[in-house]
Parts: sequence; structure tokens; C-alpha cells
Amino acid sequence: MNKALRTPVIAGNWKMNNTPDETKALIAEMKPLVAGADCKVVLCVPYIDLYAALEAAAGSDIEIGAENCHWAEKGAFTGEVSAKMLKAAGVPYVIIGHSERRQYFGETDITVRNRVRAALNEGLKIILCVGEMLAERKADMTAEIVSAQTEVALSGVTAEEMKNIIIAYEPVWAIGTGETATPEQAQEVCGMIRALIARLYNSEVADATVIQYGGSMNEKNAAELLAKPDIDGGLIGGASLVAEKFAVIVEAAGK
Ligand code: PEP
Repeated sequence: MNKALRTPVIAGNWKMNNTPDETKALIAEMKPLVAGADCKVVLCVPYIDLYAALEAAAGSDIEIGAENCHWAEKGAFTGEVSAKMLKAAGVPYVIIGHSERRQYFGETDITVRNRVRAALNEGLKIILCVGEMLAERKADMTAEIVSAQTEVALSGVTAEEMKNIIIAYEPVWAIGTGETATPEQAQEVCGMIRALIARLYNSEVADATVIQYGGSMNEKNAAELLAKPDIDGGLIGGASLVAEKFAVIVEAAGK
């Protein structure tokens, strides 16, 4: 399928930034800048900011997501939030398996898979993050690591459910470091992920799946990355906290 037939998705990951009031102010600033965008625009914000974000984005082209969700519907999991709670709150998107969750909070391929299942059961749209560490890239293990992460996370996911999955390829060495993968490096892995999806499902599913790149994507390098045939958008951390920078990336995705 021609890349032009997939709608690009530009998603911001605000991480642990912004109070509810700051959330409202930043979304108010972004709204006119991304109005009429030729791509989907999603902002994933801390749990505490979700209601403020939903309120601020209402009636605009911006959709809201959470940065994680638990695999259980409810129970004794202090500090966690379930997919069911996100659904009930009116949150359409959720990031699962971000490398910061994997690195700092003990997230494994299995817990990522369980969270994916819970989010799918609630009909949420998932931004599923995969990506290799620097040492793994240096050891020439990128394809092996990314394939394993993707395959485990998608185990039990049906072809129909793949409509609710976006895959974000995020090399860990490029996240928050200012060091971006070259467009060729990013394309190589995104193309490999699409080929894997074709093997796991079929070419129709692979052609329809949105695959993002993430890792120091910014207003300067976005256009070149987004021009690659298998890069259908971006997951953006730092640059999504500055309205003008984020708007330039959104604009680049629509071209
Ligand atoms: C991210 O948080 O997913 C990310 C890609 O961050 P940054 O753009 O800051 O590297």
C-alpha cells in the first residue's frame, strides 16, 4: 500500500511535565497552530492532567492519551490506573511499553503484552513502544531485540485488533539525548517491523499499520524522517512541550 494511504500520527509524550493549569495553557496555545492538520495529533499526558487536557482539547483536532495503564481491571495495585478507568474517563489513546517504563520501572515484554491486552479489551488505541539500547545496537542485535519486543507484545492480538495498534520505534539511545537516528537507520527498522507484521498477520494488516519513529525528533529533523516510506509519524518528547516546535512537526507530517 502506498504510504500516502496511511494517516500519519504525531503524538506528544509529555512525560512527567506540566500541572493541570499548565496543561490547559499549552493546549490552548497549540490548538490554533495545529488546526486543520493533515495528520492525527495526539497528546499523551500524566494521569493527573488527563481531565484538564480533555477539557482543553474539546472541539479541536487534538486527541488525548495516557502514558501507561495497568493490566488488571481493578484491585490492590497502589499508584496504578487501569485501562477501564481511562476508557471511563473518555481517554482514547494510551502509550504502552515506553523505554522509560522498561528502564526505570521494571516493565518487561510480558507486562507490556498484558497491558496491551487490557487496553485492547477496553477499545483504547495503543502506541506500543519498542526499541533497542545502545549496547544492543553496537552488538548488531537491533533487529533481534525489536522483533522480540514486537512479537511478544502482539501475541494474542488479532488482525482486527491491529487497527487499534500504532507501533513507535524508539531507539533508546536517541530518547531525550538529542541524538536522532538517521532517517536511513529509522527507516531500516520501521521497514523491518512492517515486514514482521506482514509475517505475523498479512500484507494488508502490515500496509495499514501506522509505524512511528521516536527519539529526539524535532522541528529541524522531522521532515526528513517523515519522508521515509515506512515512517508514518512520530512520538515526540521534548519538542512536544513547546507549541511552535510541535506545530512544525505536525505540519511536516501532513506533507
Ligand atoms: C519519547 O519520550 O518517546 C521521546 C522520543 O522523547 P524525545 O523526543 O525527547 O527524545
